[in-house]
Amino acid sequence: MTFFAMPAVTPENILSLPRLSSIDPAGAVFRDVLHVIDAPTTLEGEGFQVRRPFPGYDLRSADPFLLLDHWGAVEYAPGEARGAPWHPHRGFETVTYVMDGAIRHRDSLGGGGVITDGATQWMTAGSGILHDELPTEEIVTRGGLFHAVQLWVNLPRNLKWTPPRYQDVGAKRLALLSSDDGGAWVRLIAGEVGDYKGPGATWTPIAYAHATVTPGARLQVPWRPDFNALVYVLSGRGTAGPSTQSIREGQLAILGPGAALQIQADAQQDGHARNLDALLLGGLPIREPVAFYGPFVMNTHEEIAQAISDYRAGRMGTVPATTLAP
Ligand code: MN
Repeated sequence: MTFFAMPAVTPENILSLPRLSSIDPAGAVFRDVLHVIDAPTTLEGEGFQVRRPFPGYDLRSADPFLLLDHWGAVEYAPGEARGAPWHPHRGFETVTYVMDGAIRHRDSLGGGGVITDGATQWMTAGSGILHDELPTEEIVTRGGLFHAVQLWVNLPRNLKWTPPRYQDVGAKRLALLSSDDGGAWVRLIAGEVGDYKGPGATWTPIAYAHATVTPGARLQVPWRPDFNALVYVLSGRGTAGPSTQSIREGQLAILGPGAALQIQADAQQDGHARNLDALLLGGLPIREPVAFYGPFVMNTHEEIAQAISDYRAGRMGTVPATTLAP
């Protein structure tokens, strides 16, 4: 198996990118690793395998994030690709980032499109929406490489009833940054890192980036001290934090307090990885009670019961008739 592609926006010339300035270790506290978690594997939708680093360990350490699903990298044989057919969401946002392959989505408001190769789709479910998320017909029919992640970002109580909305963040819109020595680069999807700003607009303040660190190289980025900080490894291996805790594909590192993050790629990568690829995630914790039931995330059990009855009564929308054939 070879999964080398990951065409999720790779700059032609790293040295031409804006550079993150180096961080003076005397002037900044680098966040160290508190815990490393092996993401458990679970089955989703029609039966496709994902790794799910959170929730699981402790929901509070991920706050304001609720869930991360890592889908692939997988080389599908013809007829093998599966998706998540029509289902509802209420009370949070789903952020789908596709590194290889493509997902076709449709929703109960009549929207839809294809998310592909480095693009992100940001869906604020808010008060409620139905959607389906499936590999494109081409991938189902012919098979192919697929690699994506879906992040769930919580909404605070006063925004859970916000009307549903979409943001399509094309691959070309991502802010691309280089490390000070050009050995690593960062695709900033949302939020701010240092003086730079990603394209995704978020209700809850977060920072969300995909970093690629070449073998032996080190990446340092400033990080808001009031944000939490998580590093999830998509592929490859390396270390996180000043104590150089080992991390590898499928592991989540939960970092402690500080004002900067550091990750480093091992000089030797193995298997199907060329580099260390990791998601850098952080946000302002919401610190409200979380009632999490399948596709609904509210503050109380009563609100979950209401979500279930609203869904059953069609008050979150209905599946468009035109999408049900043949
Ligand atoms: Mn969904």
